[in-house]
Amino acid sequence: MASPESVRRHNLSLLLRLLHQSGALSRSEIGAALGMTRSTIGELVADLRARGLVEEGDPARLGAPGRPSLVARPNPEGAAAITAEIAVNSLSAAVVGLGGRILHLVRVPHQPRRLAVDQTIEDVGTLIQTAMAAIPPGCWVAGLGIAIAGVVSRADGLVHFAPNLGWRDVPLGLLVAERFGASLPIVIANEADLGALAEHTWGAGVGVDHLIYVSSEVGVGAGVVIDGRPLVGAAGCAGEVGHVQVNPTGVRCRCGAIGCWETEIGGPALLRRAGRTERSYRGEAVTRLLREAAWGDPVALGAVEEVGRWLGSGLAGLTNVFNPQRVVLGGLLCDMWPLVEQIVQAELRGRVMAPALEVVDIRAAHLGADGPLLGAAELALARVLDEPTLVPSRSAERRSA
Ligand SMILES: [Zn+2]
Repeated sequence: MASPESVRRHNLSLLLRLLHQSGALSRSEIGAALGMTRSTIGELVADLRARGLVEEGDPARLGAPGRPSLVARPNPEGAAAITAEIAVNSLSAAVVGLGGRILHLVRVPHQPRRLAVDQTIEDVGTLIQTAMAAIPPGCWVAGLGIAIAGVVSRADGLVHFAPNLGWRDVPLGLLVAERFGASLPIVIANEADLGALAEHTWGAGVGVDHLIYVSSEVGVGAGVVIDGRPLVGAAGCAGEVGHVQVNPTGVRCRCGAIGCWETEIGGPALLRRAGRTERSYRGEAVTRLLREAAWGDPVALGAVEEVGRWLGSGLAGLTNVFNPQRVVLGGLLCDMWPLVEQIVQAELRGRVMAPALEVVDIRAAHLGADGPLLGAAELALARVLDEPTLVPSRSAERRSA
């Protein structure tokens, strides 16, 4: 039988997770969500307050106006994660506090000449150091979470393959630990998996148990949530939908195969269809093309619509396989969505089995470009969310102050 102490620690974790995901809640709302008595909630809130993880007070002051009673909310400066994203076009680093609040964020272009491993680690390392310097005083740091556009093993941070960065078998976890010292727990995961996690926790997938998140920049990746849990796969690389062959007579992909989905719907595919051959892929060229398409430029619009058809046929396949309630589109696909929604829906109507078609709902991501950073924070913050007593109580200091 569980000891009273382990029950109490479990309840602290349940309460902190609830506030982390929901924001400010009154004690009666907490009681309804967790099925606990008011006195139990009062003791748990007092414990988390003493550790600096939760604030309690006047609803207007804590950003929940209109509530009749005291509210508790996560304290973003009580515990935080440092996060970074290594994308093909950009590098970024952030400090993300409890509740998913971004306390600091810097994003810079990932220079095409500096995609090599050592240069990337040097550049992203500088951003991470700036983020570390921005951590609020007294804030408990849960760890460093890194999102990367590649196939990565979470256990050791080994990047098996990142075709659009040109990386293969890079021990990123070890290299980052060497750079920042092994004392900071480091977790590294695929950016689409993290985008899915973030949208499921705070974005367009909240409360959805069957979710597919598909995002595109240069490559295309997906994160799949089934029965409320992320689909990981036997080798940890499930969701590599970008490398499913959709066009046997298509063009060669960076992975070496012909006609992968990302060669039909990624940013370079969009530019290619509009006849724009860029020496190196830049996000601004795609933004410009989407703007031209929105103004009705026939060449730009034709390219976008062709990508929309390939997007729709691929999403139809995923919908038939996974029967999701919701599909969330991130990155370039999110920006493109208003222009291709009709085309994608028509492809789905023509290809998806009726029961799956009836329940699926496709939406643009809510968290924009910050999704992978927020997902990386969620992974790193799991330590404190699972075990809030890792953070020492400050009550002794307060009494003496
Ligand atoms: Zn491929």
